[in-house]
Amino acid sequence: MLVKLQDIIAMADKGNYCIPAFNVYNIETVMGVIKAAEEERAPVIIQVYPRLFKEEVGYYLSPVIKAAAEKATVPVCFHLDHGSSDVEVTRALRWGASGIMLDGSANSFEENVEMTRRTVETCGYLGIGVEGELGHVGSVNDDTMEEYTDPDEAAEFVRLTGVCCLAVLIGNAHGHYKKTPNLDIDRVRAIRKATGLPLVLHGGSGIPDDQVKAAINAGIRKMNIGTDVCCAFAKGTLETLNDPNRSIAVDIFMKHPISTVQELAREKIHLVGANGRA
Ligand SMILES: [Zn+2]
Repeated sequence: MLVKLQDIIAMADKGNYCIPAFNVYNIETVMGVIKAAEEERAPVIIQVYPRLFKEEVGYYLSPVIKAAAEKATVPVCFHLDHGSSDVEVTRALRWGASGIMLDGSANSFEENVEMTRRTVETCGYLGIGVEGELGHVGSVNDDTMEEYTDPDEAAEFVRLTGVCCLAVLIGNAHGHYKKTPNLDIDRVRAIRKATGLPLVLHGGSGIPDDQVKAAINAGIRKMNIGTDVCCAFAKGTLETLNDPNRSIAVDIFMKHPISTVQELAREKIHLVGANGRA
């Protein structure tokens, strides 16, 4: 069933676990994630990069996600990842998203507050919760990491904007980590205490399992998995290409890539403790 962001996060908060949020790119990645979620009885978030909402891909992909979520026997939220402007937010809402992230973290604190507050107001008309970001989570290719999220500033941000969950910078980054990340778990605990809000961990691909578990214990309730979905899909595709008995019929060709995404999703569902929760 299609559920809203604030409702699926509340489930995790109540049960002290974390919702895995998988980035999807095409019908096959959607199918792999949904199959895993149903198999594991797990609530999941399916999210889409903003560039897909700027291009026509989002127009075609959104009805697929919506149909998959509505048909699913487990709670599924259809979420906009890293929305940075009204264009993406408006299109995501129009095309059926049940969760919105507004990422103004590359801007000043004041600008971030203003952009996020406005989005919270708009989404509020539809009863949809908003994920904000404070402390810009950059790329693994950046030379230096920005300053980590400050607990007091986070509390102020939450008070001024009304977000339902907050993405934080605690040693995480987007992409393939070049060296093992070292998350500041004490900071997660402090931000959680200061804001009272469920927190979000971006850059979940490649963080060691013990650090993921510690972060969840400290208050992370949504973990984003994008790069690993791409790798799982690429692996399945390459294996099929190298199989001399493969079928060229695209639907049959895609069965194995769907299964490698499904396997990855199952692993992550177990890692964050979302299995058996729906
Ligand atoms: Zn992110």
